[in-house]
Formats: sequence, structure tokens, C-alpha cells
Amino acid sequence: MYVPDDPPANCPACGAPYDSVSRHADGFVANLLDNERYRRVCFYPATDDGDPAFDCYHHTHGQAGTD
Ligand SMILES: [Zn+2]
Repeated sequence: MYVPDDPPANCPACGAPYDSVSRHADGFVANLLDNERYRRVCFYPATDDGDPAFDCYHHTHGQAGTD
């Protein structure tokens, strides 16, 4: 996983500001049930050197509209 070179200003999935983004070209587990920093992770399709991948946009509790 790595950080894309040209990340958008806002999350392309929900349109909200985000804290960080990472690109994944293989399997990945997202469990935020007990995460104190992030409230939501959005997924958006991407490519990695021509191969399928996805971007994970991490929203904090504030950015996701909760405290
Ligand atoms: Zn989002």
C-alpha cells in the first residue's frame, strides 16, 4: 500500500474532507469498530500500474459529522 501521487481535495466517494488516503492493490481488512481516530473509511476504485486497486479515504469522527 502507498499514498497516491495526486489525491483529490475531497473524498470522491462521499464528498467530505478526509484525513489520509492509501492505495491498495491486494487484500485489506478495515475494522473501525474500536478505532478512536477514524469514524469511516470510504473505498474508491483505482489502478496500480494498470492493475486493479482501490483507494481508502480515512475520515475522522469530526469529518464524518460525529464526535
Ligand atoms: Zn468518504
